Amino acid sequence: MITTKRVLIVASIAFMAVMLYQWGHLDGREGKSSGLIGELIAAESPPKVSPVKTRARDFYAPNSEDLRPDEMRLIACGTGMPTARPKQAASCWLLELGNGDKFIFDVGTGSAERIAAMQIPYNYLDKVFLSHLHTDHFGDLDALFVGGALAGRQKPLRVWGPKGDTPERGTKYALDHLFKALTWDIAGRAGITDPRGYQPFEVTEFDYKGVNKIIYQENGVTIRSIPAIHSLDGPVSFIVEWNGLKFVFGGDTYPNKWYAKYAKDADLAIHECFVAVPDLITKFKFTPQGALAVGTQIHTAPEAFGKMMSLVKPRMAVAYHFFKDFDTTGPINDRIRTTYDGPLSLAEDYMVWNITKDDIRVRMAIYDEDVWPPPATEKPQLPDPSARIPYSKFIVGGKSDMKDVIQPTYDEINKKYGLSEKQD
Ligand SMILES: [Zn+2]
Ligand SMILES: [Zn+2]
Repeated sequence: MITTKRVLIVASIAFMAVMLYQWGHLDGREGKSSGLIGELIAAESPPKVSPVKTRARDFYAPNSEDLRPDEMRLIACGTGMPTARPKQAASCWLLELGNGDKFIFDVGTGSAERIAAMQIPYNYLDKVFLSHLHTDHFGDLDALFVGGALAGRQKPLRVWGPKGDTPERGTKYALDHLFKALTWDIAGRAGITDPRGYQPFEVTEFDYKGVNKIIYQENGVTIRSIPAIHSLDGPVSFIVEWNGLKFVFGGDTYPNKWYAKYAKDADLAIHECFVAVPDLITKFKFTPQGALAVGTQIHTAPEAFGKMMSLVKPRMAVAYHFFKDFDTTGPINDRIRTTYDGPLSLAEDYMVWNITKDDIRVRMAIYDEDVWPPPATEKPQLPDPSARIPYSKFIVGGKSDMKDVIQPTYDEINKKYGLSEKQD
């Protein structure tokens, strides 16, 4: 009796193991080594001691993996909405290529901390492409600009974005004024930090009506733009081609003919997929009229996302721009699946795609909450103290006397680094 039971248990464990193993492989989650499930199957008899070797991870740990020369890695650094929430920053996508190039597509509200979590030296994060000028697509540009300069970007931040239908609605106008808004911030750093990262944005504007026109071509990478239909004239989407791979980043849009044509056969195609209308009414507290207008006319409804992807047929379709919760994910998926049955990722922050010609692997990144800035890649340029803007006599006259308690820190650092720094 006991023996029969044991046989049954062993048989069902073996069956489950096979199912789990197959699921893992069908899901594209297989690691480099055999993994725990594989070892369970392989073992003729249980090992006498518990294993001491590592197993392949099924998550992405930033700064822990080489990128192959023919590989792209895409990281979702923001997938949410203009309404800030802890779980999802707004639109931001970090693309890394095997040739070393890195590009940021959109830098929406809250995304700078997700970028920081990837531990990439800021000198390499100097190229940003903006789909349009809603804050959920460029609201953290100031944080990336100042924080990046402080943490080792020793060059200007380059930004590509569309011209508007008037100069005031264009990217250059927005960024010139954002730079002006940072006047006090930047003035307060003069003479104290390496000044090279705080130069004005280097903006390249292009015609939003350009259809598949090249807006960037360097180092084997070609980026084109296509128009989008969203709120006003001006928004665009981007198409990146490199090394035989095609990546498409769709900004906000009503489904449009340019995306249908030029995103075709992409290896990975991102397109917005908005919160379903019933949730806009009950959760977002939109009026029914407002929900219909915003959820289906200004943006792309899930069913329309599916229809678009059935036309484009990418190797991987990526949906974003909805609050992805336990009770919204299923309904969004069901709505998409009424019109599309191909490969699909419902994006959330920290989702990672590794893309080669043979494989697309989808995982989540596990990040370090306690992350510090990565090392600078160049020696810092010492600031010119004469560039410092002095306090007024009135303000400096308000200093409390702390020289005695601060001096030991000066002594310690001067001794350790061979300096002769003095207190102000
Ligand atoms: Zn928008
Ligand atoms: Zn948006």
